[in-house]
Amino acid sequence: MLNTPTLLMANFMVASLFAVCLGLVSRRERAEGLWQWAAAMASLAACMLLLMFRGRTTDWLAIGAPALLLCATFAQMLDSVARFQQRPAPAWMVWGPLPLTALFSLALVNGLRPGLLPTGLLLVTQLLLVLVFLRRGWQAVPGYGKHFLAMGMLLFTLNMLARPVLLLLGYVNPTVPLASDAIQAAAFLSTMAGVILSGLGVLVMAKDRTDEHNRALALMDELTGLYNRRHTQQTLVRQLAQARRAQRPLAVLMLDVDHFKRVNDTYGHPTGDQVLRELALRILERLRAQDLAGRWGGEEFLVVLPDTDARGAQALAGQLILAIEGRPFLAANGKPLRLTASVGVHVLPAGEAGERDDMISAADRALYLAKERGRNRVEVL
Ligand code: GH3
Ligand code: MG
Ligand code: MG
Repeated sequence: MLNTPTLLMANFMVASLFAVCLGLVSRRERAEGLWQWAAAMASLAACMLLLMFRGRTTDWLAIGAPALLLCATFAQMLDSVARFQQRPAPAWMVWGPLPLTALFSLALVNGLRPGLLPTGLLLVTQLLLVLVFLRRGWQAVPGYGKHFLAMGMLLFTLNMLARPVLLLLGYVNPTVPLASDAIQAAAFLSTMAGVILSGLGVLVMAKDRTDEHNRALALMDELTGLYNRRHTQQTLVRQLAQARRAQRPLAVLMLDVDHFKRVNDTYGHPTGDQVLRELALRILERLRAQDLAGRWGGEEFLVVLPDTDARGAQALAGQLILAIEGRPFLAANGKPLRLTASVGVHVLPAGEAGERDDMISAADRALYLAKERGRNRVEVL
């Protein structure tokens, strides 16, 4: 038979290790919720430590305080998961159970049975709340972490449900709290599994979220929020293959702001940057969901238009030119700033095979032509 004090010791160790490691990681990573989970594990470790001394300390320390610590553990788990989901739980929901548990502990200390059921129910409610909050943003959380965490929380819940039931049915003798029997062994082993699963889950979730954030950042142009050159190129390659397979045309537009150097020279770089951001918005406003706009370089933008023929591409290019010419931008000094742009269009007819670099250089040549022929215009090649 597994020895209960040893199992408590093992639980204490695992929970403390998670508390320390997650605490350290949360200081570096600043991932939402990690710090709260570390605090939850610290409370749980303290709870296990006090349980180890049952029979050798006062009932307050051996029964009342562990109940409070367990309640604090689950409160911080809720806080952690809610923060991770970016939907913080109200303070009363997180911490409200604590004074209630304190009240029930009075009953617990003065004779186990009357305090047992309300304390147990409260703890189970806390755990169910954690599961509800985890479920709320379930789809948006990438990776396996959420499954580990959910399994861990289910283990805690089953454990908390089983404990008072077994006690009330007389399977557990509350007067011999550190008895080493099968029920205690199952309880503390499953608690340990819960601590490990949920702790790993929280870590993996935080890591996967950071990874996804970085992946998204790696596709974006920081200044304009449009896709960057590399992602735009990759998209073009994919769209070329798709257009060929579906026997549909594919168009690309290369847009370049006219005399943009003057904007910087006259109003300064910050105005230039602001104009580029506003320009990106004006481009995006006019695109369909399947179109993609990327920042090709300085003040040049490449737009990929799937399933678009020369007429459609030319029409969109005309709209973009109007959108830029028609409404002045705003200089840093508050003055209106009139700008124009030139666009080069190249279209791959339906069913034809095309190369990425050929498409881009054709659009670039068309753009050059538009500049040569007086700017603020569209040329198709
Ligand atoms: P053209 O009509 O021939 O296109 O003239 P232009 O002045 O627009 O062309 P040129 O390529 O000579 O100048 C582009 C300018 O764009 C030069 C550079 O100062 C500016 N630029 C490039 N990237 C940025 C940026 O990120 N922010 C700002 N503010 N300016 C940029
Ligand atoms: Mg330019
Ligand atoms: Mg340029």
